[in-house]
Amino acid sequence: MQRSLEKSNRQFQRAVKRLPLGVASNFRYWGDDKTIYVKRARGARLWDIDDNEYIDYRLGYGPAILGYADPRVDEAVREGIEIGGVFALATEREYVVAERISKMVPAAELVRFSNSGTEAVMAALRLARGYSGKDGYILVEGGYHGLFDAAQWYAAIEEMENEADQPEIKAYGKGIPKLLKRLIHQVQLNDANQLEEVMRRHADEIGAFLIEPIMGNCCSIMADAEYLQAARSLCDRYGIVMIIDEVKTGFRVARGGVQEMMGVDADLCTFAKAIANGYPISALAGKEEIMRHIGGDGVAHGGTYTAHSACLAAADRTLEILDETDALADIESYGRRMQEGIGKILSARSLAHVYSGHPSMAGLFFAEEVPRNYRDWLRSDYALYDALAANLHEEGILCEPDSREPWFISSAHDDACLEETLAKFETALDATLKTLPGNHSS
Ligand code: PMP
Repeated sequence: MQRSLEKSNRQFQRAVKRLPLGVASNFRYWGDDKTIYVKRARGARLWDIDDNEYIDYRLGYGPAILGYADPRVDEAVREGIEIGGVFALATEREYVVAERISKMVPAAELVRFSNSGTEAVMAALRLARGYSGKDGYILVEGGYHGLFDAAQWYAAIEEMENEADQPEIKAYGKGIPKLLKRLIHQVQLNDANQLEEVMRRHADEIGAFLIEPIMGNCCSIMADAEYLQAARSLCDRYGIVMIIDEVKTGFRVARGGVQEMMGVDADLCTFAKAIANGYPISALAGKEEIMRHIGGDGVAHGGTYTAHSACLAAADRTLEILDETDALADIESYGRRMQEGIGKILSARSLAHVYSGHPSMAGLFFAEEVPRNYRDWLRSDYALYDALAANLHEEGILCEPDSREPWFISSAHDDACLEETLAKFETALDATLKTLPGNHSS
C-alpha cells in the first residue's frame, strides 16, 4: 500500500502561503507533494502528521545522537530552563562544559560557544584570519561548512568536460558577493601534492585550510589519516591555520572526534550537532595561542543567545553520557551490523556497493571502489540510490533523498530497528529494481 501524505500535502499548501517553500530551512522542502511535516519523534523513530511511522537515519542531519527526546537530556534541559535563559552575563556551567570538551578533545585547549554550526565555523574562519593576518582560505571539493557567505561555494564537478580540468567554483545560489570568490582556493581530498602546490604558491595570501576529514555532506567520503597528517605538516610549514570542522563528526565517530580517529590535532575545530542531542549550541575550540586572540582589540566573538542555560545544560548532560557510557561503541556496532545486513541483500542481487566514512555516519555507494574524493561520487550509480531512497521512505525508512547525505545512527537504534530496517530495505530494493530502467547489477 502506498504511504499517504494527505495531511502533509494539505499542510504544505497552507504553509507555503506564509513561509517560503512552506518550511523553515530550504533543505526541508522535498517537493510540493513530498514535503513531510512531523508530529513527534522518540528514540530512533519519527511520526509524520499522517501517522506514518519511520525509523530515522537522518536524525536531523546528525544531532540526535542519543535518540530523539532522550529523557536524561530533557530532564537536564528542564533544570536548565529554571536557571532563566540568557542574561548577557556568564554562568558557571560554561566552564564545566568547556572542561569536558577539553578533556575529550586535546586540541580544544580553549573553548567559545555559539548557537549553530554555521556560527562556529564563521567564527573559526574569522579567528584564523585575525591570527594569521591573511584573508584567503582553502576549501576541499565536496565539503560543506554552513550558510555564511564565505562557505557558500562549491566545485561544479558535474559541469566539467574533462576530468583533468579544475572545476569552476560556484556560489550556492544568489546573494553571495562575487568578489569573495577571489579569496578561495579549492583542492581535491586526498591529494597532498596538490595541497602543497597551492600552499607553496599562495602562502602569503592563505590564512586558513578548512576541512571536514569525513565529509558529512558528501557521502562521508573520508580523508586518509596520512593525508590529514601531511596537511597538518603543510599548514605548519606555510603558516596556515588548520580548521577541522567537526560539526558532524564531533563526539560521534569517537569521543575525541575525527581528530582522535586520525591522530591529528587541529589548530581550530568546530562542534555542533551531537554536542547537545539537538539543542542549539555549538563550539569553537582550539589552541590557546590562537584562541587568546579573541577579545580586546583582537577578534570579535559573542552573541545574545550564546550559551543559553537550557542548551548548556543539554550539552553538559549529553557530553557526560557520550564520555562516560558505551553509547558510541553501541552506535558503531549497530552501524557495522547494518552494513553487513544490507551488504548481504545487495550481494544476493549482484549489486556492487561500498561504504564510506565511519559506521556511525556512513555513505552507501553503488560503485566498485570506496570513493576517495567528491569526483568519485559522480562515477557511482547515484540514480539507483535516488530511486531506492524514495522507496525506502514508502516503507518507513527515513534516509536523505540525496545520496550525498550519510546514514546517521543513534544509541536509540536497537535490535528491533535493525531487523525491521533490513526487511524493509529488501522490499524497497526489489521494488526499485523492478521499476528502474537499465542494468544495475555488476
Ligand atoms: N559544518 C558542517 C560540517 C556541517 O555538516 C554543517 C551542517 N550540516 C555546518 C557546518 C553548518 O551547521 P548548521 O546547519 O548548524 O549551521
